[in-house]
Amino acid sequence: MFTKPACPIIAIEEHYWDPELTKHYTGVEASRGGDTDKRLFDLGELRLKEMDEVGIDVQVLSHGAPATQKLPADSAVEITRGVNDRLAKVCAANPTRFAAFAALPTANPEAAADELERAVTMLGFKGAMIHGMANGEFLDLKKFWPIYARAEKLDVPIYFHPSLPNAQVTEIYYQDYAKDFPLVVRPGWGYTVETATQAIRLVLSGVFEKHPKLKIMLGHFGETLPFLSWRIDASLKRPGQKPMSFRDIFSNNFYVTTSGFFSNPALLCCVMEMGVDHILFAVDWPFVMNPPAVNWMKDVPLSDGDKAKILSGNAQRLLKM
Ligand code: ZN
Repeated sequence: MFTKPACPIIAIEEHYWDPELTKHYTGVEASRGGDTDKRLFDLGELRLKEMDEVGIDVQVLSHGAPATQKLPADSAVEITRGVNDRLAKVCAANPTRFAAFAALPTANPEAAADELERAVTMLGFKGAMIHGMANGEFLDLKKFWPIYARAEKLDVPIYFHPSLPNAQVTEIYYQDYAKDFPLVVRPGWGYTVETATQAIRLVLSGVFEKHPKLKIMLGHFGETLPFLSWRIDASLKRPGQKPMSFRDIFSNNFYVTTSGFFSNPALLCCVMEMGVDHILFAVDWPFVMNPPAVNWMKDVPLSDGDKAKILSGNAQRLLKM
């Protein structure tokens, strides 16, 4: 028998797929097979039923990887607008149950910044989600900074979500084990390395000196970085390097979510390193099911007040919900 906590539950890394967009992709970027596909393409009955079964009040919807990240520059803008417009209709049909992160046409960074603004101001979206590299380029490159400038101006977060690692990295790091353990390339380890590297590079790029109010979200309890922050910081403060505090930037400008990672030691590490105000609840549905996430949260070793912040209070504050 499930008992719902006293506070609302907002889950903020919950995916769907747009059938028009997935036509542009192949392999695991176009289909995950059977029940996962059924859930990804469902934006109604099945999704709401599974939310209701565990008391999730709101899903903040985001397109699954790679979203519009791998589209060519000449078509990315128009296709992305369609994706965001269709998602806005889904939210409008169920405004108390769904909110959204925009997809961005990163192949055209200036247009991506404009699309972020359109999505936030016209469609009521809560920020944007970016998935891994943009056509093979890391997103800390200066050409992508217009996106961060606009996010800071609009006071909305950019969520860095994993995508398939770079093909050469996959070949060199994982190929010999990928046959027996295909998921080592993805959630088992490859996603983590890719996304943590992207986050570290973003700090090194200096974008937070230029845009000190920029907010970045990371799923999966920060892709190991809360655990490693002290060591990265200490290493980068050894002599001969540009002065910079990795740890200050990471703890101030980054937010982490519980997506697909329901571990008390990992949670307590994040609380100690970043503070409870920087942790938000997420499931990573439908790659991960709702019940283990919500059931775990009920018994985490935190006060009811701190649990309420993670389950919805921090999302309400950050995403203005
Ligand atoms: Zn995810």
